[in-house]
Amino acid sequence: MMYEMPKRKILLNPGPVTTTDSVKKSLMVSDICHREKEFCSVIQNIRENLKKVVHAGESYTTVLFSGSGTAGVEATISSVIPHNKKIAVINNGSYGERIVEIGKTYNIETINITSPFNEPISLEKISSIIENDPDIYAVAMVHHETSTGLLNPLSEVSHLVKKLNRILIVDAISSFAGVPIDLEKNPITYLVGSPNKCLQGLPGAAFVICDKMQLALHQKNRRSFYLDLYAQNEFLEKEGMLRFTPPVQIFYALQQALIEYFQEGEMQRYERYKRNFQILVNGLEQLGFNFLIPKECWSNLLILVSYPLSKKKIEFNRLHDELYEKGFTIYPSKFNMDNAFRLACMGHLTSNDIEFFLSLLKKTLFE
Ligand SMILES: *Cc1c(COP(=O)(O)O)cnc(C)c1O
Repeated sequence: MMYEMPKRKILLNPGPVTTTDSVKKSLMVSDICHREKEFCSVIQNIRENLKKVVHAGESYTTVLFSGSGTAGVEATISSVIPHNKKIAVINNGSYGERIVEIGKTYNIETINITSPFNEPISLEKISSIIENDPDIYAVAMVHHETSTGLLNPLSEVSHLVKKLNRILIVDAISSFAGVPIDLEKNPITYLVGSPNKCLQGLPGAAFVICDKMQLALHQKNRRSFYLDLYAQNEFLEKEGMLRFTPPVQIFYALQQALIEYFQEGEMQRYERYKRNFQILVNGLEQLGFNFLIPKECWSNLLILVSYPLSKKKIEFNRLHDELYEKGFTIYPSKFNMDNAFRLACMGHLTSNDIEFFLSLLKKTLFE
């Protein structure tokens, strides 16, 4: 079969990311029905390997959904909260806000624990709100707040929530496989991820790694038919397949992305991302950019920057278009700051890619 690889592009937006040629090639499989045993074994293999990424043992099960990452968050929020109970959301950015919106959509009473986007969260505040409201059944948080590049303290929150005897739902979509997560050491009830961020797979699926005992208790709490976490898990366990037609090829790509993740290694991937991030921020600093999140909260995956003062007149769209033409994608800020944008170091990128980007940015801004 003749097939030419498309031109490699450098995506500095926070997902989907630059993937390897081998991940892209894995889309080219023979047509196959998703109910065939051959495909079921791909699904089972993916479910097991996703657990391994976060060191989840026998007490966990992986539930897969078609859809983008948000489908996984929505499936969890809509499936597990008892009908007369509340959810508390730790909200310090757009993705925290999205969880609040999902709760409201399903008429779940939602306690919105907000804090400024550029400050570490206060564990004392969170603790006292939860302690004083026995109707709070679950706590939800975003691990890496992708709207700002701020990393929330997953380990501390997980132990706090456990101590307070509540369940914890974590949106780890943009940290999964990019920042080490250990479910043996951190008590997390539901952990949501997607293939198309630090796993370096392709978009179209979401997954939820669930504490099996808790999931069994939540059987009667579903509010959605399609996004029913319990029913999807039952079907995966008993029939070995998803309830409804999945994006078959995307799962082949995820299988390949997982192989490449384990080939690279957990710490090696983390170190590569961190190294690229360091090169990026050093270069940006030299160009006079300002960083909007305090250093002690950095995820080492993404940075929110504002333009050097002297260059404020350059419009984001013009900068974006000029860089895009040269094969580089940058991403606007979620906030209404017209001189800010975001750069992520997720995906199959090398230090050369980042250095080349910095030289292009310099040229575009200053020449
Ligand atoms: C990307 C992302 C999502 C999901 O976004 P989709 O567009 O639905 O894939 C959710 N939460 C976080 C923190 C993310 O970075």
